Amino acid sequence: MSKSKISVIVWNEFQHERENAAVRAIYPDGLHAVIAGALRETPALNPGALPLDVSIATLDQPEHGLTEERLAGCDVLIWWGHKAHGKVADAIVDRVQKRVLEGMGLIVLHSGHFSKIFRRMMGTNCSLKWREADEKERVWVVEPSHPIAAGLGEYFELPYEEMYGERFDIPQPDSTVLISWFEGGEVFRSGCTWERGHGRIFYFRPGHEAYPTYYDKNVQRVIANAVQWAAPRVNIVDVCPNAKALEKLSKKELNFGKVGIKQSQGDIA
Ligand code: ZN
Repeated sequence: MSKSKISVIVWNEFQHERENAAVRAIYPDGLHAVIAGALRETPALNPGALPLDVSIATLDQPEHGLTEERLAGCDVLIWWGHKAHGKVADAIVDRVQKRVLEGMGLIVLHSGHFSKIFRRMMGTNCSLKWREADEKERVWVVEPSHPIAAGLGEYFELPYEEMYGERFDIPQPDSTVLISWFEGGEVFRSGCTWERGHGRIFYFRPGHEAYPTYYDKNVQRVIANAVQWAAPRVNIVDVCPNAKALEKLSKKELNFGKVGIKQSQGDIA
C-alpha cells in the first residue's frame, strides 16, 4: 500500500443527540464530531505513522453515508450505533463486511456490540450484562506491549459510565488489550482484537451517550492508536481463482468418477 494518508470514516447513527436534550448538551454536534475532532488532534505515537484524513457518515445520509465509492477509499471505519441498529440496511452491512475481508480496518465502539456489522463479523450473539447507574469504570491495560496500548498507564479511570459485564458473548479475541472493572463489581473485556479475512477489527467498550466519555484523553488515545493499528496492510479482493499448477504434473490413470467405488466393506478391511 503506497498511500500517503489513512482515510478514516467515523460513522454514527446520530439519533440520541437529536432526540434527547441531555445527550445533545454533551454532544451538540453528535458524538461523531468529537471523535473525529480528537482523531485530527491526537498525534500518532507509532514510528512512520501516516497522517489521518478524517470524515464522518451518519445513518440518515443516502446509503448511510457509506456508498461503494466512499467505502472503496476508506482505510478504517469507526462505528457507533445503539437504538437504530435495525435501521441499517443489510446491503450496507454486506458492503462493509466485504471491505473488511479485503483489508479495511473496523473499530466498533460501545453499544455497537449489538450492531449488525459487529455480529456479522463475530458470528456470535455479542450479548452482555448492562446497567445504567453512573458507576466508576477502571480500565486496566493488560497487554501494555500492544500498539493500541501505547501511551497509556497501568490503568485509567472514567468517573461515570454505563456498566457492561461478562459474559460478553464474543469469539475468543486474538488479543484482549483492556479489561474493565466497575464500581458494582463486574468485569468486562473492554478492548479486544480480531482478524477477519485481511482486515483487523477492534472493539472498544467505553462511550455511553449520556456521559462525556469521548472527551477523555485516554479514550481518545485508545481510538487514535486503534486507527493506526487497524489501517490496511493489503487490499485483496476475493476472486476464488482456478489455479494452474506451478510444477509439471504426471499423467494419472485414475478416474474415480468413471470407475466408481465398487468394493464392499469386506474388501476394504
Ligand atoms: Zn450505552
